[in-house]
Amino acid sequence: MAALFITATLKAQSDTEQAAPKYQKEIDKLIKNDQVSKAFQFIKDFDQETINNQIKLTEIEAPPFKEHKFGKPKLFAQLLNEYGADSVWVDEIGNVIGLKKGTERQKVLAFAGHIDTVFPEGTDVTVKHSGDTLYAPGIADDGRGLTTVLTVLKTLSENKIETANDILFIGNMGEEGLGDLRGMKALFGEDGPKIDAFISIDGTGVNRIVNGGLGSHRYKVTFNGPGGHSWGSFGLANPAHAMGEAISIFVKNADEFTKEGSKTSYNVGRMNGGTSVNSVPFSVWMEVDMRALDPERLNTIDHILQEAIKEGVAQQNEIRRLGDPVTVDVEMIGDRPSGHTAKETPLVQRGIAANTAMGAKAVLGTGSTDANIPISLGIPAITLGGGGVAGGGHSLHEWFLNKEGYKGIQRTLLVVLAEAGMKTK
Ligand SMILES: [Zn+2]
Repeated sequence: MAALFITATLKAQSDTEQAAPKYQKEIDKLIKNDQVSKAFQFIKDFDQETINNQIKLTEIEAPPFKEHKFGKPKLFAQLLNEYGADSVWVDEIGNVIGLKKGTERQKVLAFAGHIDTVFPEGTDVTVKHSGDTLYAPGIADDGRGLTTVLTVLKTLSENKIETANDILFIGNMGEEGLGDLRGMKALFGEDGPKIDAFISIDGTGVNRIVNGGLGSHRYKVTFNGPGGHSWGSFGLANPAHAMGEAISIFVKNADEFTKEGSKTSYNVGRMNGGTSVNSVPFSVWMEVDMRALDPERLNTIDHILQEAIKEGVAQQNEIRRLGDPVTVDVEMIGDRPSGHTAKETPLVQRGIAANTAMGAKAVLGTGSTDANIPISLGIPAITLGGGGVAGGGHSLHEWFLNKEGYKGIQRTLLVVLAEAGMKTK
């Protein structure tokens, strides 16, 4: 569940933000720099190539956990090489990483778009054109992010722009759904490269700057029992009844808890199981999603679920009349940490200042994106849009319209140059 077009789970924290004068001055100076204005023009002139890459990448399937199967990372790596990365490699989880060395190499800025989409293997990802609108699953999420990362690299190379710090240009794995940010967990894991700041491009638009990570815990809960004939073995402990009880207790207590305090959500999203209408089931399961802005509240709603499961099972076992008790397996299938990159952080300030310099609004927000991981580790991180407009996220009707899309890439270039320390001549 990525923050498609950086919308779904966003909670706008405020309207247009103003950057501190120090950062506004820094960005205003950059935008007037001769090399930067040539780079801005280059991005405009390169716009059709940017769209061509977006289409080419989108037309290669990359389902969760099968991102490499159809070759999309390979094409991304090839373009990183072509566009001037000093070296390109694939890490142990499959993230594609291109390094552009800085002149001082004291710090590292990581800059990423995610390769995976929510769409299962076999989805038709051919891009259809209707007027100026492009239709295809994944065309914006995250086709727009990937092409933004590539065009920024191309722009630096073509305009011979140098930065003090290293920049890693990344196409990462596992942002969506049960991929559970596994690409980022590896990148920021103990074997990952040293990273001092992180920018993710996810979806479209310009105004939003995601500096908050919406945390979530997800579980697959399987209730098991002896199973049997619904008449002949009536009185057996029934896993479905236990699950129903658990859900009822959970909803009652979770409702009470979530009525007050910062936003916290809970959702039984999927359930399945059973043998036949005339059988006591031997197994049923449900998948539960819980999210919260505040890590503490996420732990509390999680605890409420665990207690409800225990109570539901206990109540069913108490009223069984024969046979073995119901048992339950609780498997965590998603753990996305929450947290915030503080508004005062230079990276966030540079985002706000760049939007202002581009004449766009600067709206801070919270979402569930790749930035969640570095944010939870205290590494400055934000998620931005790659410009243009889009809709129909996570559906087969996803579309993208290149309405001044280049402005999203120009804005992103400004933030990257400010954060990586552009070497001005
Ligand atoms: Zn996404």
